[in-house]
Amino acid sequence: MITRDNLLENKPLVIAGPCSASSREELLKTAYEVKKMGAQVFRAGLWKARTCPDSFQGVGDKGLKWLMEIKEKTGLLVTVEIQDSQQVDLVRDVSDILWVGSRNMQNFELLKKIGEDPRPVILKRGFISTIKEWLGAATYMGLDKVILCERGVRTGADAMRFTLDLNAMLVAKHDYGVPVIVDPSHTAGRRDMVGHLACAGIAAGADGIIVETSVDPEVEQVDRDQTISTEDFGILMNRIYKIYST
Ligand code: PEP
Ligand code: MN
Repeated sequence: MITRDNLLENKPLVIAGPCSASSREELLKTAYEVKKMGAQVFRAGLWKARTCPDSFQGVGDKGLKWLMEIKEKTGLLVTVEIQDSQQVDLVRDVSDILWVGSRNMQNFELLKKIGEDPRPVILKRGFISTIKEWLGAATYMGLDKVILCERGVRTGADAMRFTLDLNAMLVAKHDYGVPVIVDPSHTAGRRDMVGHLACAGIAAGADGIIVETSVDPEVEQVDRDQTISTEDFGILMNRIYKIYST
């Protein structure tokens, strides 16, 4: 089993993949590409928490075998967003790292269930949550296995989809001693800004990034406008490594 310490041995931790799995072929192609460019972990949502019920809800359980195949063929680690307590067990063989999304940050029954599981977990910040609420949620699962993820908050600043709160990232890291990665994709909401925000996060001391990436962003059914191509992901990787090592 991978531990949080293992994951952070080779920083920056880079997690990439589409917002939502759509087909086996697209997933495999993207996984091979991001692996080649240096990602350590593959991300893909199977059950999507969508604002409106008529939006695409994800491919569901059938995506589990695609992700299993990716693990076996590419050697990438896999992370899947968990929406409810049953899914913690359902993803046992597939998801090396559990992941709680922004909308579930305070789903306390889910947090307690994950607290009983030894796997490391990514906890995305609720987009109107205070730092205290974020750390409180992390404590339900165990601060020693959590990687926090700053994904942008809703403020009066409306230039982009959300506002990347690097202040909170710094306080979580320095005052609470918990590793933090940044999500430039949901913060930006547009792919031309993703690289800039990822670099800003790394320059400020983030432990890594989680970035929505696809071999063909235009076919993505969820978060298409903020998904970067695998070519742009490769360019971003070079920039990030340069910033991290200076
Ligand atoms: C996602 O990563 O695709 C996602 C839904 O993110 P968040 O929970 O931060 O909105
Ligand atoms: Mn998304």
